[in-house]
Amino acid sequence: MNIGPYEFAEFKALAVKFHGYAAPGLLIGGCMTAAAMTALPAGVLFEALVETYNCLPDAVQLLTPCSTGNKRLHVVHYGKTALSLFDKYSGRGIRARIDPGLLGPWPEIRAWIMKEKGKEEQNEAMLERQIDEAGTTIVALQPVCVDLSRLNRKSDGPLALCPHCGESFPAAHGSLCRGCAEGAPYSFPR
Ligand SMILES: [Zn+2]
Repeated sequence: MNIGPYEFAEFKALAVKFHGYAAPGLLIGGCMTAAAMTALPAGVLFEALVETYNCLPDAVQLLTPCSTGNKRLHVVHYGKTALSLFDKYSGRGIRARIDPGLLGPWPEIRAWIMKEKGKEEQNEAMLERQIDEAGTTIVALQPVCVDLSRLNRKSDGPLALCPHCGESFPAAHGSLCRGCAEGAPYSFPR
C-alpha cells in the first residue's frame, strides 16, 4: 500500500535518508500519519501531538509540514503508539492509534508492537511485508479535541544575559539561565 503520496519502497528510501534506517516504527507511523491526514478536513492548518519519542515524530515530519523546529509538532512521553493531528486554532482533530484488535491477520506486526519477540527472533522482512500489506487497515481513528493551553506554544518573550555563563536566555526563566540553574547535561572538558 502507499504511505501518503509515496509508494512503500519510496517511503522506505525517505526513511533511510531522514532517520538512518527504515525502522518498522517509522513505517507504521507513516501509515498512522497518512490515515489521520485523510480524515482531516481539507485546508485545515494543523499541528501534531505524538505520544512517544520513538520513530513516530519522524513519520510526522516526513509526511506533514509539522516539525519540532516550526513548533507544529508536540511530543509527550507516554510511550504510546498514537498521534493526533488537530486544527491549530480549535484543537479539534483526529487521533490515530494502532488497534490491537485489528492485528489478528498480522502476527509479525503484533509481535513487534507488543515487544513479544527479541530483536533476533523478529523476522524483519516479514514484518515489513506485513506493514506494506496492512497499510492503514490497522489504524483506528477517533475524533479528538486537544487542550491547546497544555501545549508549549508561547514565545520565549524578552531575553536577558545570564550572569553565570554570559549567554542570552528568556528573562522569564529567572535570574539564571536554566542550563546554569538546573545543571545542564554537558560540561566543557579542558
Ligand atoms: Zn547561564
